[in-house]
Amino acid sequence: MTKTEFLQLFEQAEQDIAPTFARIDKIAQQNTEKVLDSFAHHRVSEAMFAASYGYGYDDHGREVLDEIYADVFGCERAFVRHSIANGTHALALALFGLLRPNDVMLSITGKPYDTLENVIGMHGANGDGSLADFGVTYREIDLLSTHTEADLIEALKDPAIKVVFLQRSKGYLNRRTLSPDEISAWADLVHAHSNAFVVVDNCYGEFTDTKEPRADILVGSLIKNPGGGMAESGAYIAGTAKAVELISYRFTCPGLGLEVGATLGQNKSMFKGFFYAPHTVAQAVKTAVLASAVFAKLGYTVEPSASDIRYDIIQTVQCQSPEKLCAFCRGIQSASPVDAYVTPEPWAMPGYTDPVIMAAGAFTQGSSIELSADGPMRAPYTAYLQGGLTYESGRLGILRAAMYLLEIE
Ligand SMILES: *Cc1c(COP(=O)(O)O)cnc(C)c1O
Repeated sequence: MTKTEFLQLFEQAEQDIAPTFARIDKIAQQNTEKVLDSFAHHRVSEAMFAASYGYGYDDHGREVLDEIYADVFGCERAFVRHSIANGTHALALALFGLLRPNDVMLSITGKPYDTLENVIGMHGANGDGSLADFGVTYREIDLLSTHTEADLIEALKDPAIKVVFLQRSKGYLNRRTLSPDEISAWADLVHAHSNAFVVVDNCYGEFTDTKEPRADILVGSLIKNPGGGMAESGAYIAGTAKAVELISYRFTCPGLGLEVGATLGQNKSMFKGFFYAPHTVAQAVKTAVLASAVFAKLGYTVEPSASDIRYDIIQTVQCQSPEKLCAFCRGIQSASPVDAYVTPEPWAMPGYTDPVIMAAGAFTQGSSIELSADGPMRAPYTAYLQGGLTYESGRLGILRAAMYLLEIE
Protein backbone atom coordinates (compact mmCIF):
# COMPACT_ATOMS: atom_id res chain seq x y z
CA MET A 1 0.00 0.00 0.00
CA THR A 2 1.38 3.43 -0.93
CA LYS A 3 1.30 6.31 1.52
CA THR A 4 -1.35 8.07 -0.57
CA GLU A 5 -3.55 4.95 -0.57
CA PHE A 6 -3.13 4.69 3.17
CA LEU A 7 -4.06 8.33 3.78
CA GLN A 8 -7.20 7.84 1.68
CA LEU A 9 -8.13 4.78 3.69
CA PHE A 10 -7.57 6.75 6.92
CA GLU A 11 -9.80 9.61 5.78
CA GLN A 12 -12.52 7.20 4.72
CA ALA A 13 -12.39 5.47 8.10
CA GLU A 14 -12.78 8.81 9.85
CA GLN A 15 -15.81 9.69 7.72
CA ASP A 16 -17.43 6.31 8.41
CA ILE A 17 -17.43 6.86 12.17
CA ALA A 18 -19.13 10.27 12.28
CA PRO A 19 -22.48 8.85 13.53
CA THR A 20 -20.69 7.02 16.35
CA PHE A 21 -18.98 10.27 17.35
CA ALA A 22 -22.37 11.99 17.62
CA ARG A 23 -23.49 9.31 20.09
CA ILE A 24 -20.29 9.72 22.15
CA ASP A 25 -20.85 13.50 22.32
CA LYS A 26 -24.35 12.93 23.69
CA ILE A 27 -23.07 10.69 26.48
CA ALA A 28 -20.41 13.26 27.39
CA GLN A 29 -23.08 15.99 27.47
CA GLN A 30 -25.32 14.00 29.81
CA ASN A 31 -22.48 13.03 32.14
CA THR A 32 -21.17 16.60 32.25
CA GLU A 33 -24.61 17.75 33.34
CA LYS A 34 -24.72 15.07 36.02
CA VAL A 35 -21.32 16.17 37.39
CA LEU A 36 -22.16 19.88 37.25
CA ASP A 37 -25.52 19.35 38.97
CA SER A 38 -23.75 17.48 41.75
CA PHE A 39 -21.12 20.24 42.10
CA ALA A 40 -23.92 22.81 42.36
CA HIS A 41 -25.94 20.73 44.82
CA HIS A 42 -22.91 20.35 47.08
CA ARG A 43 -22.02 24.06 46.75
CA VAL A 44 -18.49 23.50 45.53
CA SER A 45 -16.45 26.59 46.35
CA GLU A 46 -12.82 27.67 46.20
CA ALA A 47 -12.34 27.09 49.93
CA MET A 48 -12.68 23.36 49.28
CA PHE A 49 -9.44 23.36 47.30
CA ALA A 50 -7.39 24.38 50.36
CA ALA A 51 -4.79 21.87 51.52
CA SER A 52 -5.06 20.05 54.82
CA TYR A 53 -2.07 18.63 56.68
CA GLY A 54 -1.33 16.41 59.64
CA TYR A 55 -4.31 14.28 60.64
CA GLY A 56 -6.45 16.03 58.06
CA TYR A 57 -9.48 16.38 60.33
CA ASP A 58 -12.39 18.42 58.97
CA ASP A 59 -11.16 18.60 55.39
CA HIS A 60 -14.41 19.89 53.92
CA GLY A 61 -13.24 19.60 50.31
CA ARG A 62 -12.31 15.95 50.79
CA GLU A 63 -15.70 15.17 52.34
CA VAL A 64 -17.63 16.96 49.60
CA LEU A 65 -15.70 15.24 46.83
CA ASP A 66 -16.53 11.90 48.46
CA GLU A 67 -20.22 12.86 48.38
CA ILE A 68 -20.01 13.96 44.75
CA TYR A 69 -18.48 10.64 43.68
CA ALA A 70 -21.22 8.78 45.55
CA ASP A 71 -23.90 10.95 43.91
CA VAL A 72 -22.64 10.75 40.35
CA PHE A 73 -22.00 6.99 40.53
CA GLY A 74 -25.42 6.35 42.07
CA CYS A 75 -23.99 5.01 45.35
CA GLU A 76 -24.71 5.67 49.03
CA ARG A 77 -21.15 6.45 49.99
CA ALA A 78 -17.67 6.81 48.49
CA PHE A 79 -14.14 7.84 49.20
CA VAL A 80 -11.57 9.13 46.80
CA ARG A 81 -7.98 9.68 47.90
CA HIS A 82 -4.73 10.71 46.24
CA SER A 83 -2.97 8.47 48.76
CA ILE A 84 -4.33 5.21 47.32
CA ALA A 85 -1.35 4.21 45.18
CA ASN A 86 -3.22 2.77 42.19
CA GLY A 87 -6.18 0.67 41.11
CA THR A 88 -4.68 -2.56 42.42
CA HIS A 89 -4.18 -1.00 45.84
CA ALA A 90 -7.82 0.12 45.88
CA LEU A 91 -9.03 -3.34 44.86
CA ALA A 92 -6.85 -4.90 47.57
CA LEU A 93 -8.33 -2.49 50.14
CA ALA A 94 -11.82 -3.53 49.06
CA LEU A 95 -11.09 -7.27 49.23
CA PHE A 96 -9.21 -7.14 52.54
CA GLY A 97 -11.87 -4.81 53.95
CA LEU A 98 -14.71 -7.20 53.22
CA LEU A 99 -13.20 -10.70 53.51
CA ARG A 100 -12.40 -12.54 56.76
CA PRO A 101 -10.60 -15.85 57.46
CA ASN A 102 -12.51 -18.86 56.07
CA ASP A 103 -14.50 -16.67 53.68
CA VAL A 104 -14.60 -17.38 49.96
CA MET A 105 -14.10 -14.91 47.12
CA LEU A 106 -15.86 -15.96 43.91
CA SER A 107 -14.89 -14.31 40.64
CA ILE A 108 -17.65 -14.72 38.04
CA THR A 109 -15.92 -13.11 35.06
CA GLY A 110 -12.98 -15.49 34.93
CA LYS A 111 -9.45 -14.59 35.87
CA PRO A 112 -9.17 -11.10 37.38
CA TYR A 113 -6.64 -8.50 36.23
CA ASP A 114 -3.03 -9.79 36.33
CA THR A 115 -1.95 -7.65 39.30
CA LEU A 116 -4.63 -9.22 41.52
CA GLU A 117 -2.98 -12.66 41.31
CA ASN A 118 -0.58 -11.74 44.11
CA VAL A 119 -3.24 -9.93 46.12
CA ILE A 120 -5.45 -13.02 46.06
CA GLY A 121 -2.54 -15.41 46.44
CA MET A 122 -3.64 -17.49 43.48
CA HIS A 123 -0.56 -19.67 43.69
CA GLY A 124 -1.07 -20.50 47.35
CA ALA A 125 -0.19 -19.02 50.71
CA ASN A 126 3.50 -18.07 50.71
CA GLY A 127 3.81 -15.68 53.63
CA ASP A 128 3.57 -12.40 51.73
CA GLY A 129 0.25 -11.39 53.28
CA SER A 130 -2.06 -12.26 50.39
CA LEU A 131 -5.72 -13.17 50.98
CA ALA A 132 -4.64 -16.83 50.81
CA ASP A 133 -2.25 -16.19 53.72
CA PHE A 134 -5.21 -15.01 55.80
CA GLY A 135 -7.25 -18.11 55.02
CA VAL A 136 -9.45 -16.67 52.28
CA THR A 137 -10.26 -19.14 49.51
CA TYR A 138 -10.51 -18.04 45.88
CA ARG A 139 -12.86 -19.61 43.34
CA GLU A 140 -13.63 -18.70 39.78
CA ILE A 141 -16.32 -19.26 37.19
CA ASP A 142 -16.74 -17.41 33.91
CA LEU A 143 -20.23 -16.28 32.97
CA LEU A 144 -18.81 -14.82 29.75
CA SER A 145 -17.82 -18.16 28.30
CA THR A 146 -17.75 -21.46 30.18
CA HIS A 147 -20.50 -20.99 32.79
CA THR A 148 -24.17 -20.06 32.97
CA GLU A 149 -26.35 -18.19 35.45
CA ALA A 150 -27.54 -21.58 36.70
CA ASP A 151 -23.90 -22.40 37.57
CA LEU A 152 -23.71 -19.13 39.51
CA ILE A 153 -26.86 -19.93 41.48
CA GLU A 154 -25.45 -23.39 42.24
CA ALA A 155 -22.09 -21.92 43.34
CA LEU A 156 -23.82 -19.41 45.62
CA LYS A 157 -25.24 -22.23 47.73
CA ASP A 158 -21.98 -22.10 49.68
CA PRO A 159 -22.66 -19.62 52.52
CA ALA A 160 -18.90 -19.01 52.91
CA ILE A 161 -18.95 -16.88 49.76
CA LYS A 162 -18.60 -13.33 51.06
CA VAL A 163 -17.45 -11.49 47.94
CA VAL A 164 -18.61 -12.01 44.36
CA PHE A 165 -16.14 -10.28 42.09
CA LEU A 166 -16.66 -8.95 38.56
CA GLN A 167 -14.32 -7.15 36.22
CA ARG A 168 -16.09 -4.79 33.85
CA SER A 169 -13.34 -4.16 31.34
CA LYS A 170 -11.63 -6.88 29.32
CA GLY A 171 -8.25 -6.05 30.87
CA TYR A 172 -5.59 -8.28 29.32
CA LEU A 173 -8.10 -10.90 28.20
CA ASN A 174 -9.54 -11.50 24.75
CA ARG A 175 -13.13 -11.05 25.82
CA ARG A 176 -15.77 -8.40 25.55
CA THR A 177 -16.36 -5.69 28.12
CA LEU A 178 -19.48 -5.86 30.28
CA SER A 179 -22.16 -3.18 30.14
CA PRO A 180 -23.38 -1.55 33.36
CA ASP A 181 -26.80 -3.16 32.78
CA GLU A 182 -25.35 -6.67 32.53
CA ILE A 183 -23.33 -6.18 35.71
CA SER A 184 -26.35 -4.77 37.56
CA ALA A 185 -28.46 -7.75 36.49
CA TRP A 186 -25.83 -10.21 37.74
CA ALA A 187 -25.48 -8.24 40.98
CA ASP A 188 -29.24 -8.51 41.50
CA LEU A 189 -29.06 -12.23 40.85
CA VAL A 190 -26.28 -12.62 43.44
CA HIS A 191 -28.28 -10.61 45.99
CA ALA A 192 -31.34 -12.76 45.37
CA HIS A 193 -29.38 -15.93 46.23
CA SER A 194 -26.83 -14.90 48.85
CA ASN A 195 -25.63 -12.25 51.30
CA ALA A 196 -22.34 -11.76 49.48
CA PHE A 197 -20.98 -8.32 48.63
CA VAL A 198 -20.74 -7.69 44.89
CA VAL A 199 -17.42 -6.00 44.11
CA VAL A 200 -16.83 -4.54 40.65
CA ASP A 201 -13.47 -3.67 39.18
CA ASN A 202 -14.78 -0.63 37.28
CA CYS A 203 -11.39 0.44 35.88
CA TYR A 204 -11.61 2.06 32.42
CA GLY A 205 -15.42 1.99 32.42
CA GLU A 206 -16.42 5.24 34.12
CA PHE A 207 -18.36 7.76 31.99
CA THR A 208 -18.36 5.64 28.83
CA ASP A 209 -22.10 5.18 29.43
CA THR A 210 -24.67 7.39 31.13
CA LYS A 211 -24.78 5.12 34.16
CA GLU A 212 -22.44 2.99 36.26
CA PRO A 213 -23.04 -0.60 37.43
CA ARG A 214 -25.22 -1.18 40.51
CA ALA A 215 -23.15 -3.11 43.06
CA ASP A 216 -22.00 -3.10 46.68
CA ILE A 217 -18.62 -1.73 45.66
CA LEU A 218 -17.18 -0.05 42.56
CA VAL A 219 -13.43 0.50 42.37
CA GLY A 220 -11.40 2.55 39.92
CA SER A 221 -8.16 4.44 39.40
CA LEU A 222 -7.79 8.22 39.16
CA ILE A 223 -5.07 8.01 36.52
CA LYS A 224 -7.72 6.45 34.33
CA ASN A 225 -11.21 7.79 33.50
CA PRO A 226 -12.51 9.64 36.59
CA GLY A 227 -9.29 11.59 37.14
CA GLY A 228 -9.93 13.31 33.80
CA GLY A 229 -6.20 13.48 33.08
CA MET A 230 -5.87 16.05 35.91
CA ALA A 231 -5.64 13.98 39.10
CA GLU A 232 -2.00 13.33 39.90
CA SER A 233 -2.54 9.96 41.59
CA GLY A 234 -5.15 8.02 43.53
CA ALA A 235 -8.26 5.88 43.34
CA TYR A 236 -11.87 5.76 44.50
CA ILE A 237 -14.11 3.25 46.22
CA ALA A 238 -17.89 3.75 46.00
CA GLY A 239 -20.86 1.63 47.05
CA THR A 240 -23.22 0.87 49.88
CA ALA A 241 -22.71 2.66 53.20
CA LYS A 242 -21.95 -0.62 54.97
CA ALA A 243 -19.39 -1.94 52.49
CA VAL A 244 -17.65 1.43 52.11
CA GLU A 245 -17.40 1.77 55.89
CA LEU A 246 -15.77 -1.66 56.25
CA ILE A 247 -13.27 -0.80 53.54
CA SER A 248 -12.54 2.61 55.09
CA TYR A 249 -11.37 0.77 58.24
CA ARG A 250 -8.91 -1.17 56.14
CA PHE A 251 -7.82 2.00 54.33
CA THR A 252 -6.89 3.81 57.56
CA CYS A 253 -7.76 1.78 60.64
CA PRO A 254 -10.76 0.59 62.65
CA GLY A 255 -12.24 3.50 64.58
CA LEU A 256 -10.83 6.21 62.32
CA GLY A 257 -12.10 5.30 58.86
CA LEU A 258 -12.61 8.41 56.75
CA GLU A 259 -12.15 10.94 59.59
CA VAL A 260 -8.46 11.31 58.80
CA GLY A 261 -6.30 11.74 55.69
CA ALA A 262 -4.56 15.02 54.87
CA THR A 263 -5.07 16.02 51.24
CA LEU A 264 -1.85 18.08 50.93
CA GLY A 265 -3.23 20.30 48.19
CA GLN A 266 -4.57 17.55 45.91
CA ASN A 267 -8.28 18.44 46.18
CA LYS A 268 -8.33 20.93 43.33
CA SER A 269 -6.87 18.58 40.73
CA MET A 270 -9.28 15.84 41.82
CA PHE A 271 -12.32 18.15 41.58
CA LYS A 272 -11.11 19.58 38.30
CA GLY A 273 -10.37 16.12 36.96
CA PHE A 274 -13.85 14.87 37.81
CA PHE A 275 -15.26 17.95 36.05
CA TYR A 276 -13.21 17.15 32.94
CA ALA A 277 -13.71 13.38 33.08
CA PRO A 278 -16.89 13.04 30.94
CA HIS A 279 -15.26 15.12 28.19
CA THR A 280 -11.84 13.49 28.46
CA VAL A 281 -13.35 10.01 28.38
CA ALA A 282 -15.19 11.01 25.19
CA GLN A 283 -11.85 12.04 23.62
CA ALA A 284 -10.40 8.66 24.54
CA VAL A 285 -13.43 6.73 23.25
CA LYS A 286 -13.27 8.60 19.93
CA THR A 287 -9.58 7.77 19.63
CA ALA A 288 -10.39 4.09 20.27
CA VAL A 289 -13.20 4.08 17.67
CA LEU A 290 -10.88 5.61 15.08
CA ALA A 291 -8.22 2.99 15.80
CA SER A 292 -10.81 0.26 15.39
CA ALA A 293 -12.00 1.63 12.04
CA VAL A 294 -8.50 2.19 10.65
CA PHE A 295 -6.94 -1.13 11.72
CA ALA A 296 -9.97 -3.14 10.60
CA LYS A 297 -9.62 -1.55 7.16
CA LEU A 298 -5.93 -2.53 7.20
CA GLY A 299 -6.94 -6.15 7.79
CA TYR A 300 -6.26 -6.55 11.51
CA THR A 301 -8.60 -8.25 13.97
CA VAL A 302 -9.93 -5.58 16.30
CA GLU A 303 -12.23 -5.61 19.33
CA PRO A 304 -14.63 -3.84 19.69
CA SER A 305 -15.51 -3.01 16.09
CA ALA A 306 -15.96 0.65 15.21
CA SER A 307 -19.76 0.44 15.30
CA ASP A 308 -20.02 -1.49 18.59
CA ILE A 309 -21.39 0.32 21.62
CA ARG A 310 -18.56 0.72 24.12
CA TYR A 311 -18.43 0.27 27.86
CA ASP A 312 -14.74 1.01 28.39
CA ILE A 313 -12.00 3.00 26.66
CA ILE A 314 -9.92 0.00 25.57
CA GLN A 315 -9.34 -0.97 21.96
CA THR A 316 -7.51 -4.14 21.07
CA VAL A 317 -5.65 -4.74 17.84
CA GLN A 318 -4.18 -8.18 17.27
CA CYS A 319 -0.72 -7.50 15.91
CA GLN A 320 0.13 -11.20 15.30
CA SER A 321 3.89 -10.91 15.84
CA PRO A 322 6.24 -9.50 18.48
CA GLU A 323 7.79 -7.16 15.89
CA LYS A 324 4.42 -5.72 14.92
CA LEU A 325 3.33 -5.23 18.52
CA CYS A 326 6.56 -3.31 19.13
CA ALA A 327 6.08 -1.23 15.96
CA PHE A 328 2.52 -0.38 16.99
CA CYS A 329 3.64 0.83 20.42
CA ARG A 330 6.56 2.77 18.97
CA GLY A 331 4.19 4.61 16.60
CA ILE A 332 1.98 5.62 19.52
CA GLN A 333 5.00 6.72 21.56
CA SER A 334 6.22 8.93 18.71
CA ALA A 335 3.00 10.99 18.88
CA SER A 336 3.10 11.51 22.65
CA PRO A 337 3.59 14.90 24.30
CA VAL A 338 6.27 13.56 26.68
CA ASP A 339 9.17 11.24 25.78
CA ALA A 340 8.27 11.13 22.08
CA TYR A 341 11.95 10.45 21.33
CA VAL A 342 11.99 7.23 23.38
CA THR A 343 11.78 3.71 21.85
CA PRO A 344 9.62 1.37 23.95
CA GLU A 345 11.03 -2.11 24.69
CA PRO A 346 9.36 -5.10 26.39
CA TRP A 347 10.19 -5.46 30.12
CA ALA A 348 9.27 -7.60 33.14
CA MET A 349 6.80 -5.35 34.95
CA PRO A 350 6.21 -6.05 38.67
CA GLY A 351 2.92 -7.89 39.14
CA TYR A 352 2.57 -9.10 35.53
CA THR A 353 3.22 -12.68 34.35
CA ASP A 354 4.65 -12.03 30.84
CA PRO A 355 6.99 -9.25 29.72
CA VAL A 356 4.95 -6.19 28.74
CA ILE A 357 5.67 -3.50 26.15
CA MET A 358 4.24 -0.08 26.85
CA ALA A 359 3.94 3.15 24.94
CA ALA A 360 3.36 5.81 27.52
CA GLY A 361 4.39 9.36 26.80
CA ALA A 362 2.21 10.77 29.53
CA PHE A 363 2.39 13.88 31.72
CA THR A 364 1.58 11.61 34.67
CA GLN A 365 3.55 8.36 34.96
CA GLY A 366 1.42 5.34 34.06
CA SER A 367 -1.63 7.45 33.32
CA SER A 368 -3.69 5.50 30.80
CA ILE A 369 -6.43 8.09 30.28
CA GLU A 370 -3.54 9.67 28.39
CA LEU A 371 -2.79 8.04 25.05
CA SER A 372 -1.04 4.78 25.74
CA ALA A 373 -0.69 1.30 24.33
CA ASP A 374 0.56 -1.82 25.93
CA GLY A 375 0.47 -5.53 25.52
CA PRO A 376 1.85 -8.68 27.06
CA MET A 377 4.42 -10.45 24.86
CA ARG A 378 2.30 -13.52 24.21
CA ALA A 379 0.28 -14.68 21.19
CA PRO A 380 -1.71 -13.22 19.46
CA TYR A 381 0.40 -10.17 20.40
CA THR A 382 -2.58 -8.00 21.17
CA ALA A 383 -2.03 -4.28 21.55
CA TYR A 384 -4.30 -2.73 24.17
CA LEU A 385 -4.77 0.88 23.20
CA GLN A 386 -6.41 3.39 25.46
CA GLY A 387 -6.66 7.05 26.30
CA GLY A 388 -6.09 10.31 24.50
CA LEU A 389 -6.55 13.57 26.37
CA THR A 390 -7.53 15.24 23.11
CA TYR A 391 -8.95 13.58 20.01
CA GLU A 392 -6.51 15.55 17.87
CA SER A 393 -3.48 14.01 19.59
CA GLY A 394 -5.12 10.57 19.75
CA ARG A 395 -5.78 10.71 16.02
CA LEU A 396 -2.13 11.52 15.35
CA GLY A 397 -1.09 8.54 17.47
CA ILE A 398 -3.29 6.17 15.45
CA LEU A 399 -1.95 7.60 12.20
CA ARG A 400 1.66 7.04 13.33
CA ALA A 401 1.03 3.54 14.71
CA ALA A 402 -0.50 2.50 11.37
CA MET A 403 2.38 4.01 9.41
CA TYR A 404 5.00 2.24 11.59
CA LEU A 405 3.19 -1.06 10.91
CA LEU A 406 3.04 -0.44 7.16
CA GLU A 407 6.79 0.19 7.16
CA ILE A 408 7.62 -3.31 8.46
CA GLU A 409 5.02 -5.22 6.42
C1 LIG B 1 -5.79 -0.62 35.47
C2 LIG B 1 -6.60 -1.75 35.92
C3 LIG B 1 -6.50 -2.24 37.22
C4 LIG B 1 -5.57 -1.64 38.25
O1 LIG B 1 -4.31 -1.43 37.76
P1 LIG B 1 -3.30 -0.37 38.40
O2 LIG B 1 -2.22 -0.33 37.40
O3 LIG B 1 -2.89 -0.93 39.70
O4 LIG B 1 -4.02 0.93 38.55
C5 LIG B 1 -7.30 -3.29 37.57
N1 LIG B 1 -8.17 -3.83 36.71
C6 LIG B 1 -8.31 -3.38 35.46
C7 LIG B 1 -9.30 -4.02 34.55
C8 LIG B 1 -7.54 -2.33 35.03
O5 LIG B 1 -7.68 -1.87 33.79
